[in-house]
Amino acid sequence: MLSNIVSSMAAIPSSVSSGCSQEIDWNNLRFGLTTTDYMYVMKCSKDEEFTEGQLIPYGNIELSPAAAVLNYGQGVLEGMKALQREDGKFVLFRPVENALRMKTGAERMCMPSPSVDHFIDAVKQTALANKRWIPPPGKGSLYIRPLLLGTGPTLDVSPAPEYTFLIYATPVRNYFQEGSAALNLYVEDQFDRASRGGAGDVKSITNYAPGMKPKISAKNRGFSDVLYLDSVSGKFVEEVSSCNIFIVKDKTLLTPPTKGTILPGVTRKSIIEIAQDHGFKVEERQIAVEELLEADEAFCTGTAVGVVPVGSVTYQGKRVEYRISDTKSVCSMLLSTYIGIQNGQIEDKKGWIVEIS
Ligand SMILES: *Cc1c(COP(=O)(O)O)cnc(C)c1O
Repeated sequence: MLSNIVSSMAAIPSSVSSGCSQEIDWNNLRFGLTTTDYMYVMKCSKDEEFTEGQLIPYGNIELSPAAAVLNYGQGVLEGMKALQREDGKFVLFRPVENALRMKTGAERMCMPSPSVDHFIDAVKQTALANKRWIPPPGKGSLYIRPLLLGTGPTLDVSPAPEYTFLIYATPVRNYFQEGSAALNLYVEDQFDRASRGGAGDVKSITNYAPGMKPKISAKNRGFSDVLYLDSVSGKFVEEVSSCNIFIVKDKTLLTPPTKGTILPGVTRKSIIEIAQDHGFKVEERQIAVEELLEADEAFCTGTAVGVVPVGSVTYQGKRVEYRISDTKSVCSMLLSTYIGIQNGQIEDKKGWIVEIS
């Protein structure tokens, strides 16, 4: 599928210098936004196809005050990473999955979406145009943020007449810089992230602002993040604000099924496969809070964090701690395989790695 991508590299203005990486302090990368040189923009009208996009200097965009995305939240986002490897290659991890997920989300939000090939080509162009921002091996990655937005004006609650597919990128450090950032999760029993029949299973931009209040409140009380429960019974574990959760019990991995209210993470899907390859039994089923509290290990997965252990969980005043420093933990074993495949130290037998140039 990838072989027939039309390589329509837009001309990159010659002012882009790739020889000034020395100016970037790779040892002090943040985990926040650092603006880069270029962004990719492609527009299309309703009922049309996305045809040709272009790279333009990173900057503000102009929008109608009546844009559907501003008034009604018609938009989806994606998150992926470009890595520089020791072997000199620049790579993406399973970009087809992100392209397909954006398609599913676009359908849910009544938007046209770029084809899988177009999506991947645009991501590659964005990464290449910002190549000097891709951190050296081991120092981090270029986080890539594709957006699909209803940018045309509409007064009634109906799909926008025009859409914009936009991609920007920002260098981020590895989440596990100092190797100790285990998550202390607060089990949220007041706010829900997603409801049955809602849009919790797509990366709709509307899913994230409602999570800010519970997350800030948890952070103010010393927690790293919140863990949401199902909105129907409030008994089963769903996911963290922007990553999926697994528990380990007696050599079996458990993770909640992605049926409607949980975001189907690419990392989640990959970790399930890696765990099965290592001979673990993986069950996708509902997990009661009590099971979480009695688990041997718990960990979270997501593009931004990778695979990160849960150090503690607090539920209705009760705090449970898990062992994390053990290098023989299931979590650290899965993490090292996941990273090994990405950085090329483990052979990619699954076709997960896509080279950028
Ligand atoms: C993006 C996201 C994830 C993780 O998905 P990945 O594809 O692994 O990055 C998990 N949960 C939510 C709510 C998310 O938005």
